Amino acid sequence: MLSTLFAVLSITLGLVLLLGAGLVLWLLRWASAERGWLGPWLARRIAARLGGFVQPFNTIDPHRPLRLSQGPQRVAVIGGGLAGIAAATTLAPRGFSVVLYERNAYLGGKIGGWSHRLTKGSEVPVGHGFHAFFRHYHNLNRFLDQLGLRASFAAINDYLILERGGTALSFAGVERTPVFNLISMARAGVYRWRDILFGQAKHELRLLLEYDPLATFARFDQTSFASFAARAELPPRLRLAFNTFSRAFFADEDRMSLAELIKSFHFYYLSHDGGLLYDYPAADYADGVIAPIARHLEQQGVTLRLACGVEGLTRDAAGRLRIAGESEAFDHVVLASDVVGTRAIVGASTFIAEEQPAFAAQLAATRPAQGYAVLRLWLDRDPRAALPVFFITERLRLLDAIALCHRIEPAAQDWARQHGGAVLELHCYALPDDAGDDAAIAAALCAELEHFLPELRQAQHRDSHLQVRRDFAAFHVGMHEGRPGLRTPVPGLWLAGDWVALPLPAMLMEGAFSAGLLSANAILSSAGLREEPVLTVPTRGLLARRAPDEVVR
Ligand SMILES: Cc1cc2nc3c(=O)[nH]c(=O)nc-3n(C[C@H](O)[C@H](O)[C@H](O)COP(=O)(O)OP(=O)(O)OC[C@H]3O[C@@H](n4cnc5c(N)ncnc54)[C@H](O)[C@@H]3O)c2cc1C
Repeated sequence: MLSTLFAVLSITLGLVLLLGAGLVLWLLRWASAERGWLGPWLARRIAARLGGFVQPFNTIDPHRPLRLSQGPQRVAVIGGGLAGIAAATTLAPRGFSVVLYERNAYLGGKIGGWSHRLTKGSEVPVGHGFHAFFRHYHNLNRFLDQLGLRASFAAINDYLILERGGTALSFAGVERTPVFNLISMARAGVYRWRDILFGQAKHELRLLLEYDPLATFARFDQTSFASFAARAELPPRLRLAFNTFSRAFFADEDRMSLAELIKSFHFYYLSHDGGLLYDYPAADYADGVIAPIARHLEQQGVTLRLACGVEGLTRDAAGRLRIAGESEAFDHVVLASDVVGTRAIVGASTFIAEEQPAFAAQLAATRPAQGYAVLRLWLDRDPRAALPVFFITERLRLLDAIALCHRIEPAAQDWARQHGGAVLELHCYALPDDAGDDAAIAAALCAELEHFLPELRQAQHRDSHLQVRRDFAAFHVGMHEGRPGLRTPVPGLWLAGDWVALPLPAMLMEGAFSAGLLSANAILSSAGLREEPVLTVPTRGLLARRAPDEVVR
């Protein structure tokens, strides 16, 4: 009798559990921040828990003056990428006399563009490569809006990953609110609930929601993303999505620091409701983006010295900084050069090694990420129409992404119209050590293009332009501790750039622009002036530990 009762009870309990699990799965499947009342309510709670998706980073003292009242201070900004542009455009209107030195003949650094002569003699614009301007790039976007540039940007309609086997992973319908976006990745086929709920991943994936600027780096900077992915037994498509994400930071998964990946995932996916869709300039960079920025800087009084590389710095008897070989003295120097350029400048500035040997040694130990390659091809035919203008590929060996430039840039569009073809850009963000010489890199990229877009197998290559470089910031395992910050121990010397340690989570273009803004703010502050407002996404993850007395709204 008793055993029958137990049997009935356990069957009932089993059924209840099964129903409960089914209900949870059903709720997860249908959870949406935009539907019903529960989703929007939860979305508001998530935003509140994060303290809002956009937050002021600094406190502005309204009693401080805006401009220098006595004689201008002189500032040299070295490097004309986004970091240098941000520093110059912040300081010049505040009474500083700013000279910007740029090694290239063009402004813009990695978003700069220049002219290239095709074999038949015509000049065409080329650049460093397609860039995605995400909507949570709050500091950069505010600057671009000030210049009216974003109004002409176009929006991408899908974040697409072409897989090796001919299938594709589309993020077009994925939700934008944090947590809901994780859930809806299952709907997009990135993972199956049973792999997460009943596998090892459920213990490990929590880390992604726990980003904390101190704890995350203390715990995970010595771990590679690859070892985490193996330990977490990530489902294959989720791992693929993360691998492509890791390479967006110019690192293969076995070199990428897990801490940096957690920070990046927080910054790009879990801290705002801008989603993975982004905007891009519907123009070539030289005309559409850089020329208006250069005009703006000149209107602000910035002296642009292009094609003017800086070899090193010296300090004069009065304690002011000078550019090696020049006579002008500066009160401040912002080194906004890339990691390789900055290492060389500091290495050649012998007074720095004498005054601050530890800092000189720290800079000497910095290194760039793996090399990257951008191959532009002029082809005699167009690939299929139903592709976004930029998409990711599950690389076979080199190819990480493809841009359809003739559907973006007017000059490429004209060329394609005249020749009945297409202009494509093939990106490899992390060259393997054995990638070979330029010819081997170009050949491998072309072969992979044919794999992913077989309709181009018979295409004639009318022209090509290859760049292979090694000057990008490395976010590799174990590098965090040695990464220099914006302030240096050398009086008057500041650093800026996408490779410098920042006090807020921002990466790539937004990292570079924010770094320049923050360095300029430090100079404004040192002169007793009011800082420029800096914006940030939430600085910690949804599940990061809060202090006991911290108010969670
Ligand atoms: C192929 C590619 C694709 C990318 N895609 C994206 C994307 O989609 N989204 C995104 O957000 N970011 C993307 N990025 C990253 C983004 O371009 C960079 O993070 C950002 O532009 C870096 O700006 P920066 O000012 O820190 O450095 P840089 O742009 O590197 O500027 C540094 C400048 O310093 C100059 N310099 C160096 N040494 C000297 C010297 N001795 N004297 C004078 N000048 C010197 C250099 O010439 C350069 O102009 C991409 C980068 C690449 C390469």
